[in-house]
Amino acid sequence: MRSLYPPTRLLLGPGPSMVHPRVSAAMARPIVGHLDPFFLRLLDDVQARLRTVFRTANRMTLPISGTGSAGMETCLANAVEEGEEVVIGVNGVFGTRMCEVARRQGGNVVVVEAPWGEIIDPDDMRRALAQCRKPAIVALVHAETSTGVLQPVEEISAAAREKDALFLLDTVTSLAGCDVEIDSWQVDLCYSGTQKCLSAPPGLSPVTVSERAMAKIGARKSPARSWYLDLGLLGGYFGGERVYHHTAPIAMVYALHEALCLVEEEGLPERFARHERNHLALIAGLSVLGLDAAVAEGSRLPMLNSVRVPEGLDDAALRGALLHRHGIEIGAGLGSLAGKVLRIGLMGESSTPENVRRLVTALCAELSRLGCPADTEEALAECDRVY
Ligand SMILES: *Cc1c(COP(=O)(O)O)cnc(C)c1O
Repeated sequence: MRSLYPPTRLLLGPGPSMVHPRVSAAMARPIVGHLDPFFLRLLDDVQARLRTVFRTANRMTLPISGTGSAGMETCLANAVEEGEEVVIGVNGVFGTRMCEVARRQGGNVVVVEAPWGEIIDPDDMRRALAQCRKPAIVALVHAETSTGVLQPVEEISAAAREKDALFLLDTVTSLAGCDVEIDSWQVDLCYSGTQKCLSAPPGLSPVTVSERAMAKIGARKSPARSWYLDLGLLGGYFGGERVYHHTAPIAMVYALHEALCLVEEEGLPERFARHERNHLALIAGLSVLGLDAAVAEGSRLPMLNSVRVPEGLDDAALRGALLHRHGIEIGAGLGSLAGKVLRIGLMGESSTPENVRRLVTALCAELSRLGCPADTEEALAECDRVY
Protein backbone atom coordinates (compact mmCIF):
# COMPACT_ATOMS: atom_id res chain seq x y z
CA MET A 1 0.00 0.00 0.00
CA ARG A 2 1.76 3.13 -1.17
CA SER A 3 -1.21 5.40 -0.73
CA LEU A 4 -4.37 4.92 1.20
CA TYR A 5 -7.88 4.50 -0.21
CA PRO A 6 -10.02 2.93 2.52
CA PRO A 7 -13.48 1.68 1.53
CA THR A 8 -16.40 4.00 2.25
CA ARG A 9 -18.49 2.33 4.91
CA LEU A 10 -21.71 3.22 6.61
CA LEU A 11 -20.68 2.73 10.23
CA LEU A 12 -23.62 1.34 12.20
CA GLY A 13 -21.69 -0.75 14.67
CA PRO A 14 -20.71 -0.16 18.31
CA GLY A 15 -18.23 2.56 17.25
CA PRO A 16 -16.50 4.21 15.52
CA SER A 17 -19.43 6.19 14.14
CA MET A 18 -19.65 8.32 11.02
CA VAL A 19 -17.52 11.47 11.02
CA HIS A 20 -18.97 14.75 9.72
CA PRO A 21 -17.01 16.21 6.76
CA ARG A 22 -16.35 19.33 8.84
CA VAL A 23 -14.57 17.17 11.44
CA SER A 24 -12.46 15.42 8.78
CA ALA A 25 -11.60 18.79 7.27
CA ALA A 26 -10.55 20.16 10.66
CA MET A 27 -8.04 17.32 11.02
CA ALA A 28 -6.37 18.24 7.75
CA ARG A 29 -5.59 21.84 8.85
CA PRO A 30 -1.98 22.89 9.50
CA ILE A 31 -0.32 21.41 12.55
CA VAL A 32 0.89 23.93 15.15
CA GLY A 33 3.01 23.32 18.23
CA HIS A 34 1.40 22.12 21.44
CA LEU A 35 2.57 25.32 23.20
CA ASP A 36 1.53 27.66 20.36
CA PRO A 37 -0.71 30.44 21.76
CA PHE A 38 -3.31 29.49 19.13
CA PHE A 39 -3.35 25.88 20.30
CA LEU A 40 -3.53 26.81 23.98
CA ARG A 41 -6.56 29.00 23.28
CA LEU A 42 -8.12 26.13 21.34
CA LEU A 43 -7.50 23.79 24.26
CA ASP A 44 -9.21 26.22 26.63
CA ASP A 45 -12.19 26.21 24.30
CA VAL A 46 -12.25 22.41 24.02
CA GLN A 47 -12.12 22.08 27.81
CA ALA A 48 -14.96 24.62 28.21
CA ARG A 49 -17.04 22.80 25.59
CA LEU A 50 -16.42 19.47 27.30
CA ARG A 51 -17.69 20.94 30.58
CA THR A 52 -20.86 21.92 28.72
CA VAL A 53 -21.54 18.44 27.33
CA PHE A 54 -20.60 16.76 30.62
CA ARG A 55 -22.87 19.30 32.41
CA THR A 56 -20.18 20.05 34.96
CA ALA A 57 -18.20 22.92 36.44
CA ASN A 58 -15.24 20.60 37.18
CA ARG A 59 -11.97 22.48 36.66
CA MET A 60 -10.23 19.17 35.85
CA THR A 61 -11.98 18.43 32.55
CA LEU A 62 -9.65 17.45 29.74
CA PRO A 63 -9.18 15.28 26.65
CA ILE A 64 -6.87 12.39 27.57
CA SER A 65 -4.57 11.26 24.74
CA GLY A 66 -5.90 7.80 23.93
CA THR A 67 -9.22 6.06 23.37
CA GLY A 68 -11.97 5.46 25.91
CA SER A 69 -9.98 2.75 27.66
CA ALA A 70 -7.23 5.31 28.36
CA GLY A 71 -9.85 7.42 30.11
CA MET A 72 -10.89 4.37 32.15
CA GLU A 73 -7.27 3.76 33.09
CA THR A 74 -6.75 7.46 33.93
CA CYS A 75 -9.62 7.45 36.41
CA LEU A 76 -8.62 4.20 38.07
CA ALA A 77 -4.83 4.77 38.04
CA ASN A 78 -5.27 8.08 39.84
CA ALA A 79 -8.12 7.32 42.22
CA VAL A 80 -7.24 3.78 43.36
CA GLU A 81 -4.58 3.17 45.98
CA GLU A 82 -3.07 -0.19 46.90
CA GLY A 83 -5.54 -2.46 48.70
CA GLU A 84 -8.54 -0.12 48.52
CA GLU A 85 -12.00 -1.56 47.94
CA VAL A 86 -13.36 -0.73 44.48
CA VAL A 87 -16.97 -1.79 43.99
CA ILE A 88 -17.82 -2.30 40.32
CA GLY A 89 -21.13 -3.07 38.63
CA VAL A 90 -20.58 -5.76 36.00
CA ASN A 91 -23.22 -6.59 33.40
CA GLY A 92 -21.13 -6.65 30.25
CA VAL A 93 -17.71 -6.27 28.66
CA PHE A 94 -16.88 -2.80 29.93
CA GLY A 95 -17.68 -3.42 33.59
CA THR A 96 -15.51 -6.53 33.28
CA ARG A 97 -12.71 -4.41 31.77
CA MET A 98 -12.95 -1.91 34.64
CA CYS A 99 -12.40 -4.77 37.12
CA GLU A 100 -9.27 -5.86 35.27
CA VAL A 101 -7.89 -2.32 35.16
CA ALA A 102 -8.72 -1.65 38.83
CA ARG A 103 -6.97 -4.89 39.89
CA ARG A 104 -3.85 -3.93 37.95
CA GLN A 105 -3.87 -0.65 39.88
CA GLY A 106 -3.77 -2.58 43.16
CA GLY A 107 -7.48 -2.29 43.91
CA ASN A 108 -9.36 -4.88 45.92
CA VAL A 109 -12.23 -5.34 43.47
CA VAL A 110 -15.73 -6.18 44.71
CA VAL A 111 -17.96 -7.26 41.82
CA VAL A 112 -21.70 -6.58 41.82
CA GLU A 113 -23.13 -8.60 38.97
CA ALA A 114 -26.28 -8.58 36.89
CA PRO A 115 -27.06 -10.83 33.91
CA TRP A 116 -25.81 -9.40 30.60
CA GLY A 117 -28.71 -7.44 29.12
CA GLU A 118 -30.05 -6.27 32.49
CA ILE A 119 -29.28 -3.29 34.76
CA ILE A 120 -27.32 -3.43 38.00
CA ASP A 121 -29.88 -3.53 40.80
CA PRO A 122 -29.33 -0.67 43.30
CA ASP A 123 -30.31 -3.03 46.15
CA ASP A 124 -27.54 -5.45 45.14
CA MET A 125 -25.13 -2.52 45.16
CA ARG A 126 -26.30 -1.38 48.62
CA ARG A 127 -25.91 -4.92 49.98
CA ALA A 128 -22.36 -5.13 48.61
CA LEU A 129 -21.49 -1.71 50.05
CA ALA A 130 -22.82 -2.75 53.46
CA GLN A 131 -20.35 -5.63 53.47
CA CYS A 132 -17.35 -3.49 52.56
CA ARG A 133 -14.95 -2.25 55.20
CA LYS A 134 -14.32 1.14 53.62
CA PRO A 135 -15.24 1.31 49.93
CA ALA A 136 -13.10 3.91 48.13
CA ILE A 137 -14.82 3.90 44.75
CA VAL A 138 -18.14 2.75 43.31
CA ALA A 139 -18.07 2.36 39.53
CA LEU A 140 -20.74 1.85 36.88
CA VAL A 141 -21.04 1.78 33.11
CA HIS A 142 -23.79 4.20 32.08
CA ALA A 143 -24.29 2.78 28.57
CA GLU A 144 -23.11 -0.85 28.28
CA THR A 145 -22.25 -0.99 24.60
CA SER A 146 -21.72 -4.75 24.74
CA THR A 147 -25.38 -5.39 25.62
CA GLY A 148 -27.35 -2.23 24.82
CA VAL A 149 -28.40 -1.48 28.41
CA LEU A 150 -28.86 2.00 29.92
CA GLN A 151 -27.99 2.00 33.62
CA PRO A 152 -29.88 4.35 35.97
CA VAL A 153 -27.22 6.01 38.13
CA GLU A 154 -28.66 8.39 40.70
CA GLU A 155 -29.68 5.84 43.34
CA ILE A 156 -26.29 4.13 43.20
CA SER A 157 -24.48 7.47 43.22
CA ALA A 158 -26.35 8.37 46.44
CA ALA A 159 -25.48 4.99 47.98
CA ALA A 160 -21.80 5.60 47.16
CA ARG A 161 -21.91 9.02 48.81
CA GLU A 162 -23.54 7.62 51.95
CA LYS A 163 -20.47 5.40 52.25
CA ASP A 164 -18.17 8.34 51.52
CA ALA A 165 -16.91 6.57 48.37
CA LEU A 166 -16.09 8.32 45.11
CA PHE A 167 -18.53 7.59 42.27
CA LEU A 168 -17.07 6.72 38.86
CA LEU A 169 -19.13 6.56 35.66
CA ASP A 170 -18.23 5.29 32.17
CA THR A 171 -20.04 7.51 29.64
CA VAL A 172 -18.06 6.43 26.56
CA THR A 173 -21.20 5.57 24.61
CA SER A 174 -23.77 7.81 26.32
CA LEU A 175 -22.05 11.23 26.19
CA ALA A 176 -23.72 13.50 23.60
CA GLY A 177 -26.28 10.78 22.79
CA CYS A 178 -28.50 10.81 25.86
CA ASP A 179 -28.76 12.64 29.15
CA VAL A 180 -25.48 12.77 31.11
CA GLU A 181 -25.46 15.04 34.19
CA ILE A 182 -22.10 14.89 35.94
CA ASP A 183 -22.74 17.54 38.60
CA SER A 184 -26.38 16.87 39.43
CA TRP A 185 -25.75 13.10 39.54
CA GLN A 186 -22.73 13.75 41.79
CA VAL A 187 -20.30 11.85 39.61
CA ASP A 188 -16.69 12.23 40.85
CA LEU A 189 -14.81 10.60 38.00
CA CYS A 190 -16.04 10.18 34.45
CA TYR A 191 -14.50 9.23 31.11
CA SER A 192 -15.84 9.12 27.60
CA GLY A 193 -14.56 8.65 24.05
CA THR A 194 -14.59 10.58 20.81
CA GLN A 195 -15.76 7.88 18.37
CA LYS A 196 -19.21 7.11 19.70
CA CYS A 197 -21.89 9.81 20.00
CA LEU A 198 -19.40 12.69 19.71
CA SER A 199 -18.75 11.34 16.19
CA ALA A 200 -15.05 12.23 15.89
CA PRO A 201 -12.43 9.62 15.02
CA PRO A 202 -11.16 7.40 17.87
CA GLY A 203 -8.16 8.86 19.69
CA LEU A 204 -9.17 11.06 22.60
CA SER A 205 -10.92 10.33 25.86
CA PRO A 206 -12.71 13.27 27.50
CA VAL A 207 -12.33 12.95 31.28
CA THR A 208 -13.81 15.02 34.10
CA VAL A 209 -12.88 14.82 37.79
CA SER A 210 -14.59 16.50 40.77
CA GLU A 211 -12.76 18.58 43.39
CA ARG A 212 -13.61 15.85 45.91
CA ALA A 213 -11.82 13.26 43.76
CA MET A 214 -8.90 15.63 43.12
CA ALA A 215 -8.51 16.04 46.90
CA LYS A 216 -8.27 12.26 47.33
CA ILE A 217 -5.82 12.04 44.44
CA GLY A 218 -3.75 14.90 45.88
CA ALA A 219 -3.48 13.04 49.19
CA ARG A 220 -2.18 9.77 47.67
CA LYS A 221 0.49 8.04 49.77
CA SER A 222 2.35 6.97 46.64
CA PRO A 223 2.38 8.44 43.11
CA ALA A 224 -0.09 7.08 40.56
CA ARG A 225 1.33 3.98 38.89
CA SER A 226 0.98 5.56 35.45
CA TRP A 227 3.26 8.47 34.57
CA TYR A 228 1.52 9.17 31.25
CA LEU A 229 -1.95 9.33 32.80
CA ASP A 230 -0.98 11.04 36.09
CA LEU A 231 -3.64 13.75 36.58
CA GLY A 232 -1.34 15.80 38.81
CA LEU A 233 1.24 16.01 36.03
CA LEU A 234 -1.40 16.46 33.32
CA GLY A 235 -2.85 19.34 35.35
CA GLY A 236 0.39 21.20 34.69
CA TYR A 237 -0.45 21.34 30.99
CA PHE A 238 -4.25 21.33 31.00
CA GLY A 239 -4.47 23.66 34.02
CA GLY A 240 -3.08 27.17 34.26
CA GLU A 241 0.66 26.79 33.78
CA ARG A 242 0.70 25.08 30.38
CA VAL A 243 3.98 23.30 30.98
CA TYR A 244 4.95 20.47 28.67
CA HIS A 245 4.03 16.97 29.81
CA HIS A 246 3.53 15.08 26.53
CA THR A 247 2.83 16.33 23.03
CA ALA A 248 -0.90 16.81 22.60
CA PRO A 249 -2.32 15.00 19.53
CA ILE A 250 -2.93 18.29 17.71
CA ALA A 251 -5.07 17.03 14.79
CA MET A 252 -7.28 14.99 17.13
CA VAL A 253 -7.89 18.07 19.26
CA TYR A 254 -8.91 19.94 16.08
CA ALA A 255 -11.34 17.11 15.32
CA LEU A 256 -12.81 17.07 18.82
CA HIS A 257 -13.24 20.83 18.74
CA GLU A 258 -15.17 20.71 15.48
CA ALA A 259 -17.28 17.79 16.74
CA LEU A 260 -18.11 19.80 19.90
CA CYS A 261 -19.08 22.79 17.74
CA LEU A 262 -21.49 20.53 15.83
CA VAL A 263 -22.97 19.31 19.13
CA GLU A 264 -23.48 22.92 20.26
CA GLU A 265 -25.09 23.92 16.95
CA GLU A 266 -27.56 21.06 17.19
CA GLY A 267 -28.27 21.51 20.92
CA LEU A 268 -28.08 18.73 23.48
CA PRO A 269 -31.85 18.19 23.96
CA GLU A 270 -32.36 18.11 20.19
CA ARG A 271 -29.49 15.70 19.79
CA PHE A 272 -30.88 13.37 22.44
CA ALA A 273 -34.34 13.52 20.83
CA ARG A 274 -32.83 12.65 17.43
CA HIS A 275 -31.08 9.60 18.89
CA GLU A 276 -34.31 8.49 20.59
CA ARG A 277 -36.47 8.92 17.47
CA ASN A 278 -34.15 7.00 15.16
CA HIS A 279 -33.79 4.24 17.75
CA LEU A 280 -37.57 3.86 18.02
CA ALA A 281 -37.95 3.82 14.23
CA LEU A 282 -35.21 1.20 13.85
CA ILE A 283 -36.66 -1.08 16.53
CA ALA A 284 -40.13 -0.75 14.95
CA GLY A 285 -38.81 -1.62 11.48
CA LEU A 286 -36.68 -4.51 12.69
CA SER A 287 -39.55 -6.12 14.60
CA VAL A 288 -41.30 -6.64 11.24
CA LEU A 289 -38.21 -8.57 10.10
CA GLY A 290 -38.29 -10.86 13.12
CA LEU A 291 -35.34 -9.06 14.74
CA ASP A 292 -36.68 -8.30 18.20
CA ALA A 293 -35.05 -6.02 20.76
CA ALA A 294 -32.90 -8.07 23.15
CA VAL A 295 -33.21 -5.60 26.04
CA ALA A 296 -36.41 -4.92 28.00
CA GLU A 297 -38.26 -1.71 27.13
CA GLY A 298 -37.22 1.02 29.54
CA SER A 299 -33.58 -0.15 29.71
CA ARG A 300 -32.72 0.20 26.01
CA LEU A 301 -29.94 2.44 24.80
CA PRO A 302 -31.00 4.86 22.09
CA MET A 303 -27.57 4.73 20.42
CA LEU A 304 -26.88 0.97 20.54
CA ASN A 305 -29.61 -1.44 19.57
CA SER A 306 -29.22 -5.08 20.56
CA VAL A 307 -31.56 -7.34 18.62
CA ARG A 308 -31.96 -11.10 18.84
CA VAL A 309 -30.66 -13.28 16.03
CA PRO A 310 -33.59 -15.41 14.82
CA GLU A 311 -33.29 -19.17 15.42
CA GLY A 312 -31.21 -20.84 12.72
CA LEU A 313 -29.86 -17.63 11.15
CA ASP A 314 -26.09 -17.42 10.60
CA ASP A 315 -25.37 -13.99 12.06
CA ALA A 316 -21.78 -13.91 10.76
CA ALA A 317 -23.04 -14.52 7.19
CA LEU A 318 -25.59 -11.73 7.61
CA ARG A 319 -23.00 -9.26 8.92
CA GLY A 320 -20.56 -10.27 6.18
CA ALA A 321 -23.19 -9.73 3.48
CA LEU A 322 -24.11 -6.31 4.88
CA LEU A 323 -20.46 -5.26 4.83
CA HIS A 324 -19.45 -6.67 1.46
CA ARG A 325 -22.63 -6.17 -0.55
CA HIS A 326 -23.95 -2.97 1.05
CA GLY A 327 -20.92 -1.36 2.69
CA ILE A 328 -22.67 -1.35 6.07
CA GLU A 329 -20.91 -2.28 9.29
CA ILE A 330 -22.92 -3.57 12.25
CA GLY A 331 -21.63 -5.30 15.38
CA ALA A 332 -21.71 -8.87 16.65
CA GLY A 333 -22.69 -10.05 20.12
CA LEU A 334 -19.82 -10.35 22.59
CA GLY A 335 -19.08 -12.88 25.35
CA SER A 336 -22.19 -14.73 26.47
CA LEU A 337 -24.20 -12.93 23.74
CA ALA A 338 -21.93 -14.02 20.84
CA GLY A 339 -24.05 -15.41 18.00
CA LYS A 340 -27.22 -14.48 19.90
CA VAL A 341 -27.54 -10.76 19.20
CA LEU A 342 -26.64 -8.16 16.60
CA ARG A 343 -25.52 -4.75 17.83
CA ILE A 344 -26.62 -1.85 15.69
CA GLY A 345 -25.20 1.53 16.51
CA LEU A 346 -26.98 4.77 15.72
CA MET A 347 -24.40 7.07 17.25
CA GLY A 348 -23.86 10.76 16.53
CA GLU A 349 -23.70 11.36 12.76
CA SER A 350 -24.78 7.76 12.15
CA SER A 351 -28.17 8.39 13.74
CA THR A 352 -30.32 9.58 10.81
CA PRO A 353 -33.64 8.46 9.28
CA GLU A 354 -31.81 7.82 5.97
CA ASN A 355 -29.39 5.43 7.66
CA VAL A 356 -32.23 3.63 9.44
CA ARG A 357 -34.00 3.13 6.09
CA ARG A 358 -30.83 2.09 4.31
CA LEU A 359 -30.06 -0.53 6.96
CA VAL A 360 -33.63 -1.87 7.10
CA THR A 361 -33.68 -2.17 3.29
CA ALA A 362 -30.33 -3.95 3.19
CA LEU A 363 -31.34 -6.28 6.03
CA CYS A 364 -34.56 -7.20 4.18
CA ALA A 365 -32.57 -8.13 1.08
CA GLU A 366 -30.00 -10.21 2.96
CA LEU A 367 -32.49 -11.92 5.27
CA SER A 368 -34.47 -13.01 2.20
CA ARG A 369 -31.27 -14.33 0.62
CA LEU A 370 -30.48 -16.28 3.80
CA GLY A 371 -33.90 -17.91 3.83
CA CYS A 372 -35.79 -15.57 6.18
CA PRO A 373 -38.17 -13.77 3.79
CA ALA A 374 -38.86 -10.18 4.81
CA ASP A 375 -41.22 -7.51 3.49
CA THR A 376 -39.25 -4.31 2.83
CA GLU A 377 -42.31 -2.12 2.23
CA GLU A 378 -43.95 -3.19 5.45
CA ALA A 379 -40.76 -2.71 7.49
CA LEU A 380 -40.15 0.77 6.08
CA ALA A 381 -43.77 1.69 6.71
CA GLU A 382 -43.31 0.66 10.34
CA CYS A 383 -40.24 2.96 10.58
CA ASP A 384 -42.23 5.80 9.02
CA ARG A 385 -45.02 5.39 11.54
CA VAL A 386 -42.51 6.48 14.21
CA TYR A 387 -41.35 9.45 12.15
C1 LIG B 1 -16.08 1.73 23.46
C2 LIG B 1 -16.20 1.68 24.94
C3 LIG B 1 -15.10 1.69 25.80
C4 LIG B 1 -13.69 1.60 25.34
O1 LIG B 1 -13.35 2.57 24.49
P1 LIG B 1 -12.12 2.37 23.45
O2 LIG B 1 -12.24 3.66 22.72
O3 LIG B 1 -12.48 1.17 22.62
O4 LIG B 1 -10.90 2.24 24.21
C5 LIG B 1 -15.33 1.72 27.17
N1 LIG B 1 -16.58 1.72 27.66
C6 LIG B 1 -17.67 1.68 26.86
C7 LIG B 1 -19.01 1.66 27.48
C8 LIG B 1 -17.50 1.65 25.48
O5 LIG B 1 -18.58 1.59 24.69
